[in-house]
Parts: sequence; structure tokens; C-alpha cells
Amino acid sequence: MSANTSVSAPILIVGAGPVGLALAGDLAVLGQAVTVLERSDGTIEQPRMDMVGVRTMEFCRRWGIVPNVEASAYNRDLAQDNVYVTSLTGYELSRERFPSMRASKPPEQSPQKRERCPQDMFDPILSAWARSFPHVDVRYRHQLTGFEQNASGVTAHVTDVVTEKTFDIEAPYLIGCDGAGSRVAKAIAGGMEGTPVLSQTTNIIFRAPQLLSLHDKGEAYRFIILSPEGMWCTIVAINGWDRWRMSITNTPPEGLTREEIANEIRRAVGIDFDFEILSVTSWTRRELVAQTYQQGRVFIAGDAAHVMSPTGGFGMNTGIGDAVDLGWKLDAVLRGWGDPGLLDSYTPERRPVAVRNGRESSANLARMLSPGKNPALCDDTPEGEECRAELGPRYAEAMSHEWYTLGIHLGYRYDDSPICWPDGTVAPPLEVAKYVQEARAGARAPHVWLSDGRSTLDLFGDGFVLLRFTAHAQPDPIVAALRERNVPVRVVDLSGEAAAAKVYAAPLVLVRPDGHVAWRGASMPEPGLLADCVRGAAPYAWKTAGELVAGG
Ligand SMILES: Cc1cc2nc3c(=O)[nH]c(=O)nc-3n(C[C@H](O)[C@H](O)[C@H](O)COP(=O)(O)OP(=O)(O)OC[C@H]3O[C@@H](n4cnc5c(N)ncnc54)[C@H](O)[C@@H]3O)c2cc1C
Repeated sequence: MSANTSVSAPILIVGAGPVGLALAGDLAVLGQAVTVLERSDGTIEQPRMDMVGVRTMEFCRRWGIVPNVEASAYNRDLAQDNVYVTSLTGYELSRERFPSMRASKPPEQSPQKRERCPQDMFDPILSAWARSFPHVDVRYRHQLTGFEQNASGVTAHVTDVVTEKTFDIEAPYLIGCDGAGSRVAKAIAGGMEGTPVLSQTTNIIFRAPQLLSLHDKGEAYRFIILSPEGMWCTIVAINGWDRWRMSITNTPPEGLTREEIANEIRRAVGIDFDFEILSVTSWTRRELVAQTYQQGRVFIAGDAAHVMSPTGGFGMNTGIGDAVDLGWKLDAVLRGWGDPGLLDSYTPERRPVAVRNGRESSANLARMLSPGKNPALCDDTPEGEECRAELGPRYAEAMSHEWYTLGIHLGYRYDDSPICWPDGTVAPPLEVAKYVQEARAGARAPHVWLSDGRSTLDLFGDGFVLLRFTAHAQPDPIVAALRERNVPVRVVDLSGEAAAAKVYAAPLVLVRPDGHVAWRGASMPEPGLLADCVRGAAPYAWKTAGELVAGG
């Protein structure tokens, strides 16, 4: 089909899932006009993600939408326990207690806490926020069918799926946030690396408002159900009220019949009861990461760039991290203060994060499936008792790796970034559960409460910020060098803030618009070179400068 019209657009995003919407809104906050193409009408048939991680909530804080997440329809009073059982009416093997969303508190390293907000609530929040900007145009029921690029821009071929009209859109940049199996990734990514099949899983959303009253296990977010044959399914509270999702971890590729599914629901609960099956999806767990996230003027982000097992709840959160990394770089280059080389830092910064998170997700899956066969598990005998007493704590201990992951959500770093100037100190090893805040170049700039009640995180998002912790530290040379290059920069004097000074551990700290540290130090490298490095014009400049300045 040939295109019958051609229109020009600002930045073009394909896919209005959580990642495309987050990128659209982030760019809009920075003042960029955006068009988003989404082939569906935005309805979420089967919500997948429900855990909005602490870093994503920090971005929501920057975007001003934390109250919207907190006001979502999820039952904020539901205890978030994970319970290991033989069935909901069977034996309880062990339990990991977590408070409800209302009662839970942020970790000391963040002003925010993770939230439970399933995709059919979170996507509409992101969509309403993104569309609240007059310069964002989200076109539902519009599908990307192909594209070409040259040195000056991208031509996207689009079909209005309602009228079947086709047309072209010209844009300076195209970002594929078009999910797993992305058309954009197929064209640019050079293939995906990893494990294409981890398991075949069937997800069933069912309605059963009375489910919690049918058993003696009390409130929980997640039931993990084991039989003598091994771990076989989970049931999680999708909205905390009446909707539940059962995931059967190993199912045949052709899926299950409705009758088989109904039997499996009864088996998991352990009794016959009334329920309504709302939707069924058979899907393949994978651990895959694209070889590159960029080709010329075309990028990929989110599931288009990486897919991972949901064990851990890292998928969308990793994708939103991609969006925040890419947003300010596109803005900088379009405004002219960012060198086009800035965009080349996107893959080396974000790809290693996805590789790490995908690996951890698969390790969580292996731990979830680890019990294997326990023939006596459900026996009402001393042998059965012994089996349950031994397995319960051992399994809970193994599974706890999945529940405590602050080091994944907050601890990711851009250690080898071409645009972060290292200070010569040795980076501590990356850990999953543990996260110690530090302001080494490439790390997330730490959260500390300031004396005026703000978080340090509230200082970031709008251009570069040079934090000054001692009165004698001289910000002028670097500020002058940045301003000569039209790089937006503000100096924030924190000289009275002892707690922040201790954590940031240098007299001057330069923080990027995305809230990652670009440089910190006592004395400065050549300011022009530093300014060119952080704006992408002099990648890895410290290697040739031969100077590493230790944080003082
Ligand atoms: C059971 C389950 C539970 C999960 N739980 C979590 C969790 O708790 N936390 C978490 O972080 N992650 C979780 N995930 C992963 C998470 O759901 C995904 O990582 C996330 O949805 C990816 O967002 P995205 O915007 O990249 O892609 P998607 O959500 O897949 O959105 C892509 C969009 O692009 C559109 N599109 C595709 N092709 C085109 C085209 N050619 N033209 C126009 N539009 C197009 C699609 O219609 C779609 O709306 C879970 C996944 C599963 C399966």
C-alpha cells in the first residue's frame, strides 16, 4: 500500500505501553513535542506489571504523578505477604510478611517506596499525564508498518487501523517502545542475545471477590503453590479486591482448554467455588537483550530492547530507566547543546543494566522452581510433617532473594559510560539486596533530606546541577565552560548540609538531568574537556587527559 499523505512530526515514539508513555511525558516536561503511535485503543486486556519499583516512583515524583499512583484503585490496605502453600486451603509452608501499601515506608535511601499499581491502572495514569501536555499527540489505533532513515531524519509508514488509511510521518528521531517482538528492534537491533525460551506459562485473570474468605491463610499479595511434583503456580492479587491472576509456570505451547484451566484454579484453591475467568494468555518466558539499542536516528527502549522473566518485577522498571536515560539526551541534541555523540552513550549505559536484570530475573525463576519433587509434601503423616517443616523455611530463604532487590532498583550504575568522568576511586561490587548510596560518576545521585524538607532528588531534572558542598569550592570554571557551550546548568549551594556532604563525599558534584552523577571532585579536570565529555562531544575524554581527580 502506498502512502497517500506525508506529515511531519517532532520526536516519534512507537508504542503507548508504560515505556513509550514515560518517554513521551519525560520529553514533554523538557519541552519537546512528541507524537506517539499505538496500534491498540489503549485498553489493557490482561494487566502484566503491577510492581512500580522505587526508582520508577522517584521518576513519578519528578513528574508530579505520585498522588495519582497513590490514588489508584488498588486496595492499599491489603497485606502484601507472600505465602508458600500446598493450596490455599491446604498446608502453609512458610510466609514472608509485608505491610500493605498504606502502611509501608520508603527505604532510607529514597523519598519514595515501591508501589503496587497494575498496568491497567498505571498505563492510564501515564497516558493522562503525557496527554496533559499540549505538545504530546498520542494516536491510538495507529500502527507503524515500516520505516526508513537517512542522515537527516526518519520516514515512518503508518496505518490508521480504523479507516485503513496509510500515510507517512517524517521525524528527526524514532523510538521503538513497541514491546517484545518489536518491529523496530527487528530492523535495527542486530538480533537479540540470551535464552529464547525459559518456560511456557499460562496466565489467567479470574474474578473471585470472596477468595480471601474461603481459606485460613489470611490476606496476601501472592500465594506460591507447591504440589508433591514441585512448584507449579502462583496466584496474585491483581487489584487487591476481586481480581486475581493465576500463573501456571509450565504449560504446553498449545495452551490449556477452559475446562483444564477451571480445574487448575480449583486445584490451586483446594475446593470448588464460584469464579469467573476473565482472560487467558499463553506466553513464553525469555531472557533476551538486543545487541544494540540504536542505529542512527532510530532507538529502542523497554521490552523492545530486552525481555526478562517477571520474577522480580524488573521488566517495566528497567524500561522506564531506558526512557529517562534517553529523554534528556534527545532533548539536548535537538536543542543543540548536546553533541550527536551524546546519543551514542545510550546503549553502553543501558544495555548492561538489562543484562544484569535479566540474569537476576532468571535466577529468581530458577529459585522459584527449585523445590523439585517432594512426594510426602501433602501427606498427613509424621513424614509429611517433617518434609513441610524442612522445605518451608529453606524455600522461603531461597525466595527472599526476589523480594529484597534495592540494589537492582537503585544500585544500577553507568560505570563505563563515555560521558561520565570517573574520579579514580574503586567502585564497590554490585549487589542485589544491598544498596549503599554513593556519588561516584555514573551512579544515581543519592537521596538525602535537606534542611528545608526537600530531597536532594528534588533538585534534579532540569538541566545539569552543580552541587557545591564547601564555601571554598570553586564552581565558576566548570559553569563557565558549560555555559559557553549552552549547556543548562545551575549551581546549588549545599554548604550547610552536613548529611548530604557526607554522602556525596566531594566539594563539587555535577549531576546530569536524569539524576546520575557526571563528575565529582575536589580539583577540576580541564573544564572545557569535562564540559565536552558530559555533553557527548568528547567521549572518554579522561582517557586522553590522563587525569583522574579523586573525590575529596
Ligand atoms: C505476568 C507478568 C508480570 C509482570 N510484572 C511486572 C512488574 O511487576 N514490574 C515490572 O517492572 N515489569 C513487570 N512485567 C514486565 C512488564 O509488563 C513489561 O516489561 C512492560 O509492560 C514493558 O513495557 P513496554 O512499554 O516496553 O512494552 P508493552 O507494554 O508491551 O507496550 C508496547 C506497546 O506497543 C504497541 N505496539 C507494538 N507494535 C506496534 C506498532 N507496530 N505500531 C504501534 N504500536 C505498536 C503495543 O500495542 C503495546 O501497547 C511483567 C510481565 C509479565 C508477563
